[in-house]
Amino acid sequence: MLIVMKMGASADQVSQVVHEIESNGLKAHPIPGAQRTAIGITGNLGVIESGWFVSMPGVLEVIRVSHPYKLVSREFKPEPTQFEVRGVPVGGENFLVIAGPCSVESYEQTRSVAQKVKESGANMLRGGAFKPRTSPYSFQGLALEGLKILARVREETGLPIVTEATDIDVLDQVAEYADVVQIGARNMQNFSLLRRAGQCGRPVLLKRGMSATLKELLLAAEYVLDQGNPQVILCERGIRTYTDHTRNTLDLSVVPAIQEISHLPVIADPSHGAGVSRSVLPLARASVAVGADGLMVEVHGEPEKALSDGDQALVPTEFDQLMDEVRELALVMKRKIPVAVGA
Ligand code: PEP
Ligand code: MN
Repeated sequence: MLIVMKMGASADQVSQVVHEIESNGLKAHPIPGAQRTAIGITGNLGVIESGWFVSMPGVLEVIRVSHPYKLVSREFKPEPTQFEVRGVPVGGENFLVIAGPCSVESYEQTRSVAQKVKESGANMLRGGAFKPRTSPYSFQGLALEGLKILARVREETGLPIVTEATDIDVLDQVAEYADVVQIGARNMQNFSLLRRAGQCGRPVLLKRGMSATLKELLLAAEYVLDQGNPQVILCERGIRTYTDHTRNTLDLSVVPAIQEISHLPVIADPSHGAGVSRSVLPLARASVAVGADGLMVEVHGEPEKALSDGDQALVPTEFDQLMDEVRELALVMKRKIPVAVGA
């Protein structure tokens, strides 16, 4: 249920409604908007009696929300979610470009890629320190050492860092170093991890599971928001289909479908979406054109030597070309590509 406050309702009236909700054993989520404040209610298993709220001072109307997703929905919050990560604005008209290696392999490798993607116009750096690998014998990431490398490279480049927490045991440690905590495709429905991510105090990049529906993705995000963290970026990273010309199929149709229902920013990852480097540029172009709020692209100085996902990595010169094209398309789509500040 959603309680919409009148325009100009006082902070006191909002607190009274919040108090009333909480004293009924439910959770209140005040959502300040451009026009008015709304207060979402979650935690109810059945139907809530709305009569009492309607008569409270400052309340305009009470809306029943029939969809299973609530806090992520445009019914709860019509305006697009926007926030800043170390001065980089995310959402709205801003176009986010997260680039970097699949895995942090060494300080030198990470620093060199970071400097190059920054020069090309990326505004955040990615790199996995904890890697979810299909085989237990594959490179699993540098763990804490990897996080420290990322932090050092952030100091040197000013690029905010996006890195994955693969497990609830490492989430707090990752959140200590990361500017954005990534929850990977394989963990999209790891509900305890999602809850902890909702409590970690950092924005969350939530990647769509490779077999997840739009509804499942939005409900996974709902777990994070329900813990009081509204700063979630959704990411389409390709789904499993019967095709074998690429590793996955980038489902770009999900982008406008999400944007219709949800206020959360949604970006596309053409690297995992394709799994092969030759498809990354065309899919990146298409992602901008379909209206995505950003891109995540894997870049490596020597893809043939990469410890993970070398097949899909662009070399820095290819990424530079990608950015030239993305900039032109972003202009057509009336998007701004913010520049990372600092260093
Ligand atoms: C990654 O971003 O390197 C990654 C492992 O992504 P996904 O969870 O989409 O496979
Ligand atoms: Mn990868």
